Amino acid sequence: MLILWIILGLVALFLAVVLIRTALFRPLPEPKADGAPLEFNRQKAIDDLQALIRCRTVSDRDPAKEDDAEFKKFAELLPGMFPHVYETCTLYTPDRRALLFHWKGREEGDPTVLMAHYDVVSVVEEDWKKPAFEGIIEDGVLWGRGTLDTKGTFNGVMQAAEHLIASGFQPLHDIYLAFGGDEEINGNGAPSIVQWFKERSIRPAMVVDEGGAVVENVFPGVKRPCAVVGIAEKGLMNVSFEYMSNGGHASAPPPHTAVGHLSAACVRLENHPAKRRFTRPAAEMFNLLGRHSTFLYRMIFANLWCFMPVLDLICKKSGGELNALMRTSCAFTTMEGSKGLNVIPPYARMTANMRIIPGETVESTLEYVRKTVNNPDITVTCMDGCDPSPISEPEGEAWEQLSQAIASTWENALVSPYLMLACSDSRHYRDLSDRVYRFSAMALSKEERGTIHGNDERIPLETITKTVEFYLRLITKR
Ligand SMILES: [Zn+2]
Repeated sequence: MLILWIILGLVALFLAVVLIRTALFRPLPEPKADGAPLEFNRQKAIDDLQALIRCRTVSDRDPAKEDDAEFKKFAELLPGMFPHVYETCTLYTPDRRALLFHWKGREEGDPTVLMAHYDVVSVVEEDWKKPAFEGIIEDGVLWGRGTLDTKGTFNGVMQAAEHLIASGFQPLHDIYLAFGGDEEINGNGAPSIVQWFKERSIRPAMVVDEGGAVVENVFPGVKRPCAVVGIAEKGLMNVSFEYMSNGGHASAPPPHTAVGHLSAACVRLENHPAKRRFTRPAAEMFNLLGRHSTFLYRMIFANLWCFMPVLDLICKKSGGELNALMRTSCAFTTMEGSKGLNVIPPYARMTANMRIIPGETVESTLEYVRKTVNNPDITVTCMDGCDPSPISEPEGEAWEQLSQAIASTWENALVSPYLMLACSDSRHYRDLSDRVYRFSAMALSKEERGTIHGNDERIPLETITKTVEFYLRLITKR
């Protein structure tokens, strides 16, 4: 009898703790928004981006597929568009397509670096509803490759700098406008700029590059738009799995062919995902956005001390972005066997694209893969890879100013740190700054996000000018 009472007491205590923690899990104070309307030439921002989109700055690992004249055309448009920037800032070109503008501040101090890239990925023209490089504007939308990724950002930074210089503004500390022309092919642009900083012992107080955006309906139960800022990004690794066999005729096969062995390895890895790692970016995000969620989710996020296994199970079952936030992901991408319908492949291969969670490395991930596959006849090799970035602090002056600029531009948005799942050029700044923030200054719907690297990339005209507003607010705080 006594035991029953003790158990009941413990259950009641558990429920009380869970419910009290849920009740106390209230929204945190938000950054102070200053939504004062900004005056600048909105039409110019639109016209200029339209002209920039008309340059086919497609980068390709095969130089024969690049059109140098288009990159030249792009570069030659800039002095006419941004005369004040060219007059006031010093332009350095540490690599063939890298553009680095140095805007001198009023005082000595660690500078700010605002990044973007102006090369774009190729298009499959026939799959687009409108031409990708003509800068067509229809129904308040500008069509074209690069409108979102990332000529829109490039334009935002340059318009803001041009406007501010023209109106007599000078930042407190130096600002660098750092643009690459080969980000999409993992080129030397951003590394050459980083090298330039290193040679001069310049350590940026803040770096802002592409990354998160203002998004809706991504965090469970949160209705308000969320401006997610990447404070770290995952690493990347392509892994190949090879199996050699004797081949032979398909009429008398062994119990498992090379394809069978590889398939078993694939299923084993899918069924045994990498172990969960609750990183700081995810913890910060759950702690901030979880407070704005529905009761059930608030209960979970307020009590991760006991509900973490439940959350992890949900992640594993659902896969997708939530799961990718919690662990190293593994996506099998290519597979090849024999070319003949009746030929057992003497050699078969498959590859996986893995995204590595902070805390793990290329090496530790490879070890997990080999251990899980557990088949000495399958050769597992890392084809290429990079470790995850360090984690930047989501606090301090730079973070406050960034948050304020965001909250003032998208007034209803919640500003939250997050873990960027893709790679950006900002990873090259890992040794230079502990304040590297990844934020694409745009509100993007799910459909719009789907056009990045896809078909029909386009940008609402209002988004173009919002991006400028954000950079005006950010720069005037620095
Ligand atoms: Zn891109």
